[in-house]
Amino acid sequence: MMLMDLHTHSNYSDGKNTPEEMIQTAFELGYEAVAITDHVWRTSAWVPDYAEHLKQLKTQFSGLIRVYSGIEAKVLTLDGDIDADASFRPLVDLVLGSFHRIPKPKGFYSKTKDAHISRTEIVEHWLVSFRRMLDNPLVDIIAHPLSELKGFGIQHSQLPIKELVDLIVVSGKILEINVRYNSVDDQIIQMAAEQGVPILVSSDSHSVIDMVNNSVLVKDLSNRGFQRVDIERYIRNKNIPK
Ligand SMILES: [Zn+2]
Ligand SMILES: [Zn+2]
Repeated sequence: MMLMDLHTHSNYSDGKNTPEEMIQTAFELGYEAVAITDHVWRTSAWVPDYAEHLKQLKTQFSGLIRVYSGIEAKVLTLDGDIDADASFRPLVDLVLGSFHRIPKPKGFYSKTKDAHISRTEIVEHWLVSFRRMLDNPLVDIIAHPLSELKGFGIQHSQLPIKELVDLIVVSGKILEINVRYNSVDDQIIQMAAEQGVPILVSSDSHSVIDMVNNSVLVKDLSNRGFQRVDIERYIRNKNIPK
């Protein structure tokens, strides 16, 4: 399996380094592939320029390291919509869907203002939006799916993990092990791996220093067989109209 890191940020969003610097670092770390996956909003007018820039970098680094373009967009509603315009999809190789906040019928749960709300209700709404996100054709990779729940004191044991994994299997989406948030002991990761879900180990680095530091874990998990996606093939297949 290729040694790669397919979730990183550059200064197009909240990263500290340019895409070139991130890609150069990935190359120096011995990675065979890297993706720049900056945070977007539906209104991010810079996405076409960003995609074009990454296209040039693919050529610039050709023969050294494979470069993929991507975006990360947060889940916005209980309908599983993400904060990316549908027109972005054909411009990039990969779209990451992530929970940065948990949607409720109007807006998002707040850790302070909604402290009195029952955890059952929050889990319920998280589940609804998670299920719907799995049906969202824009999304390729489910990034750090459970990270936001911890902030509300919700343990993984309170979630129907088996049911979630079954839904992921059917969706055909890629599950991410995000080294900032996940441990490979997470039940969802273990069960997904057993069920043959495609899994990516990624760093979510926001600087070259981050990338260097995180590479120890990424390489370790990759060597232990957790990097389980033929990404070239995945991108090829997703572009074939169904
Ligand atoms: Zn994220
Ligand atoms: Zn990220």
